[in-house]
Amino acid sequence: MSTCWYCEKNVANAGSSKKVILYKKGGVTATRRLITQHYQTIDVTITGCLLCKESYDRINRFTAVALTLSSLAGVLAAILIDLLNPGYFGLAEICIGIMVLALGIYLSRLLIKKIPVHFLKGKDPMKYPEIAEKLADGWKDYKS
Ligand SMILES: [Zn+2]
Repeated sequence: MSTCWYCEKNVANAGSSKKVILYKKGGVTATRRLITQHYQTIDVTITGCLLCKESYDRINRFTAVALTLSSLAGVLAAILIDLLNPGYFGLAEICIGIMVLALGIYLSRLLIKKIPVHFLKGKDPMKYPEIAEKLADGWKDYKS
């Protein structure tokens, strides 16, 4: 039985663990018509518990909702400004829309810190010992 890496407290379970796929460039093979770059992949499982998984899910849901609402507010603000200033839909409307969107993102970043989470702060999957070791060895994360 292993301990959850995220909170370093609970017993980890398979369903709440996270799989991270890493890749590395392999050799190149060439035929007359085609040059193929080969890649190797491996996956590393970060042990997690249900409470930490729920915390991450909650944050992801909040981010998705906040982004949708901010975009909607930006569009509505642009439409409102356009209605208040008869004329063509132009730069001013677009600027106001973007400003409202940016404000929404800023506010949601402040709010996200208030969401209670089970995992310890600053847990970056890329610092998981087995992953850090592979990264140092030339493996790369798909996202970077
Ligand atoms: Zn945990």
